[in-house]
Amino acid sequence: MWEDLEVTLEKVDEGQRKEKPSQDNLGFGVHFTDHMFLMKWDREKGWHDAEIRPYGDFHLDPAAMLLHYGQAIFEGLKAYRRDDGQVFLFRPADNLERMNVSAQRMCMPRIPVDKVLKSLKALLYLEKEWIPMAEGTALYIRPTMIGVEPFLGVRPSGEYYFYIILSPVGAYYKEGCRPTKIYVSDEYVRAVKGGVGYVKTSGNYAASLYTSEIAKKAGCTQVLWLDACEHKYIEEVGTSNIFFMIDDELVTPPLEGSILPGVTRDSVIKLTDSWGVNVSERKISIDEVLAAHEQGRLQEAFGSGTAAVISPVGELCYKEKNYLINKGETGELSARLFAELQAIQKGEKEDSFKWTVRCG
Ligand SMILES: *Cc1c(COP(=O)(O)O)cnc(C)c1O
Repeated sequence: MWEDLEVTLEKVDEGQRKEKPSQDNLGFGVHFTDHMFLMKWDREKGWHDAEIRPYGDFHLDPAAMLLHYGQAIFEGLKAYRRDDGQVFLFRPADNLERMNVSAQRMCMPRIPVDKVLKSLKALLYLEKEWIPMAEGTALYIRPTMIGVEPFLGVRPSGEYYFYIILSPVGAYYKEGCRPTKIYVSDEYVRAVKGGVGYVKTSGNYAASLYTSEIAKKAGCTQVLWLDACEHKYIEEVGTSNIFFMIDDELVTPPLEGSILPGVTRDSVIKLTDSWGVNVSERKISIDEVLAAHEQGRLQEAFGSGTAAVISPVGELCYKEKNYLINKGETGELSARLFAELQAIQKGEKEDSFKWTVRCG
């Protein structure tokens, strides 16, 4: 049905546009641009009423099903503006395809990836001036889908909104790539196999908040999750995937349904493999990590995700004990990966994997 999806455009008058925030204190997810993309779905028409329109509220019935039963999925990717003014996306189709994997698990309609990518490019062209260019900044893109049919009863919604909003963001950490202190939860879990851990769905984040608050009280910034059955195997950290460098093996947990298949994770695996690093996707227990630490074989650890790109782990807190990793400093591989990924994204280095996509 969406084959003939037309996108209408309603622009905000030049005089009504928002003032752009200063590039050196953008924060993350605080500012939003002048326009958004929105389209609607119902059983008869499929996707329809696609529009680029002024950023703003939309009407939701208090009985809208997402508010009760949680049918909500999202994505997160970034656009960069290069010195010559050209705008590039990083692996955007991977994010949109992943959204369709999420949609399937949540009984929501698939999005037409090509059409959405085209609309996203048009939206970015319109909002070009909003894309910051200072070191470490980018335009964060948040595609979202919600079930909006007003109905009380547990079944898939018959109506959906899909929209994209844009937010200019600063470096996730002011110092660039700074080591973080991570809380290993031995009590609460994030996801189980057979559940929705691999889906970017709102409920996963709501369910993580309680443990995040415990982590913050312990002076940590994020939670490192262990598997739900044995509380033994490493899963992921906050909204990032995790890597450990033990001796000369770079280890990350395998994708078995309970962790998010990160685009950054995949990029790290491909890059390090091309550098000749021995990288493995395998089960790794917290005991193995701590034993390697004890024996001085744990070289470094880092998280990977769109928001911070690479975030080194400086310290683990587990069962009230603290374990300093690499003296709390950024490891060599973390620094190299952070620099390389940023350089590819900003077009300062050859993109041999063809990850960047030009807009317009
Ligand atoms: C988004 C996300 C990631 C990282 O995925 P990227 O595609 O690299 O941004 C990892 N874990 C969770 C739970 C996430 O939500």
